[in-house]
Amino acid sequence: MKIKMNVSIAILLALTIVAGCGGKNEGASTIAPNPTASASVTTSPTASPSAGTTPTTSPTATATTKPSSNPVTSPAASPTPTKNGAVQVIAKPESITVLVNKTNSLPSSYEPTDLVYPNIAFTFSEKIDKRKMRQVAATAIEKLFAGAQKDGVPLAGVSAYRSYATQKALFDSYVKKDGEEKAKTYSAVPGTSEHETGLAIDVTGSNGKCAASDCFGGTKEAIWLEKHASEYGFIIRYPQGKAAITGYQYEPWHLRYVGSDIAKEIQAKKVTMEEYYNTVPVSK
Ligand SMILES: [Zn+2]
Repeated sequence: MKIKMNVSIAILLALTIVAGCGGKNEGASTIAPNPTASASVTTSPTASPSAGTTPTTSPTATATTKPSSNPVTSPAASPTPTKNGAVQVIAKPESITVLVNKTNSLPSSYEPTDLVYPNIAFTFSEKIDKRKMRQVAATAIEKLFAGAQKDGVPLAGVSAYRSYATQKALFDSYVKKDGEEKAKTYSAVPGTSEHETGLAIDVTGSNGKCAASDCFGGTKEAIWLEKHASEYGFIIRYPQGKAAITGYQYEPWHLRYVGSDIAKEIQAKKVTMEEYYNTVPVSK
């Protein structure tokens, strides 16, 4: 049963791979009024009972348990990835090690309480939300940027925090334009973007070239990050070749703060956060 369920999740994730956090997500600056109840972050209900409305626990710093007994069944029968009904609302969104992905959503009401402006360069000059990070991540990214600079690889931030409301406004605008099914192929559903944690940041070289674009892969900045990010508590959250697990193609620019112990472990084991928490099948 466990194996069956895990395979199911893998299939679902494989079906829902979309373009990542940057790119088309960068445009909107308007704020959506009235973020609705958490049920709005869930996908269309299916035969699964109480889809999306069942708060469940999520992995925290110490969690190594399997996903709950959430009735994720027969995804192969699901005609589209949006009908999986398997989205769980995260119980401890403030955890530094919170796992946010397409099946683990932040509550619509979640707003980090310790957002600050890290003292680093960005590719834009405005002092706006997307510069912000939670205090611990801000301090860490300042050190990471200083370390990169010292190694002759100056970096710039592209986009960090994004509120649920902003993500919702963005997503809703895409839905209006392209319909929900298509919008989901290139934009994160509100609650499921890691940028909403205040612990993630997209970075690029100080020349701003290839910001949040595929061409960032293989640059000296990307190579430096692969090698050194974990020393500062960050992981490359969407590594190459792991799209079937993370749900995202390779995003060498997207850093997620998890603390240096876990970051180093994840890097040493060459696993994703999902694999680290054993929430998806891992080929051992
Ligand atoms: Zn990102």
